[in-house]
Amino acid sequence: MKDKTVIKSILRWLNHYFVFFILVAFIITCCTMLFVSTLRDSLGLELTDDNIGAAAKITFINVALLSLIFTVIDTIRRKLTVERPVRNITQAAEKLIQGDFSVRINNKNIIGTDETFNRVIDCFNKMAEELGSVETLRTDFIANVSHEMKTPLAVMQNYGTLLQAPDLSQEKRMEYAKAVTDTCRKMADMMTNILKLNRLENQQIYPCITEFNLGEQLCECLLQYENVWEQSDIEIETDIAEDIIVKADAELLSHVWNNLFSNAFKFTPSGGKVTVSLSATPDYAQVRVTDTGCGMTPQVGAHIFEKFYQGDTSHSSQGNGLGLALVKRVVDIMHGEISVESVVGKGSTFVVRISRC
Ligand code: ADP
Repeated sequence: MKDKTVIKSILRWLNHYFVFFILVAFIITCCTMLFVSTLRDSLGLELTDDNIGAAAKITFINVALLSLIFTVIDTIRRKLTVERPVRNITQAAEKLIQGDFSVRINNKNIIGTDETFNRVIDCFNKMAEELGSVETLRTDFIANVSHEMKTPLAVMQNYGTLLQAPDLSQEKRMEYAKAVTDTCRKMADMMTNILKLNRLENQQIYPCITEFNLGEQLCECLLQYENVWEQSDIEIETDIAEDIIVKADAELLSHVWNNLFSNAFKFTPSGGKVTVSLSATPDYAQVRVTDTGCGMTPQVGAHIFEKFYQGDTSHSSQGNGLGLALVKRVVDIMHGEISVESVVGKGSTFVVRISRC
């Protein structure tokens, strides 16, 4: 099969050579003979027609041989510098189409490759890398969502089975039914967070910028946790500068404060303290949420803004690792900054900076 293809390409090549270069050799020979005969007539040289005929044959053979040699050289050059890189790119693109995102083209071994091909190869490799990381994110995301859904579904299934027992006391029935509703709510919260994050990541949300009092917004959000801090006996301290007006999307920012406050209360044990402060310069406003909770190691701190990451597994049932990913995305959309300072066993401080205009 391969031999037939080689023979075919040689025949195609010879055909090309005979049609084009033999024609060229013929034209060059005719021109040279015309030139020689004109020269003979004008200078009176003693050249017979037989001499000129013999010279014509030699010239024709020389031109034909020279063009054959140049054709061979040019074919080899084209094979190495054009056909080989094109073949490599095509083969790699085919692998990419079949879903192999690890494919890369090595342009180091290609002799004399044109600079343009090198650029195409570099772009192809970058594209494959990007597609590979998007694919990894997608599969990780699906794996995480499925994993996060399996636990509450199993819990609901168990309680559902228990609820079917005919001799169940009213008290137990209520307890199991509450467990089912709690789990349902947790799942619904997770789905809401996933949808919000998805919309934020796909840029389907365009910030609705308004002017509002940031201090008032922080107080309103904080007051929603009054029950929590009273029940857990957590002290609250606020240092909120007055009349700090910002231009931002109020609804999106409220997600940031709600997540930071709920984490601060979640990770702070009874008797601890949560401090919220707001300060501002003419350019930006800065919010600090400090707690005296469990804190986190630098290793945990490096990942907390990633989707589904939970550093503290003892509280995993109260969250799904999406809160801070959402916070980070909102802060990025607002062109703001968020950072965390934390000491294990002492507490954490989240600092959010947003532009005021
Ligand atoms: P979750 O809803 O599971 O808490 P988050 O994205 O809000 O998810 O937080 C991710 C991780 O960041 C948590 O599992 C925890 O390890 C860490 N974390 C967030 N806030 C705090 C905090 N105030 N104190 C200690 N650790 C925190």
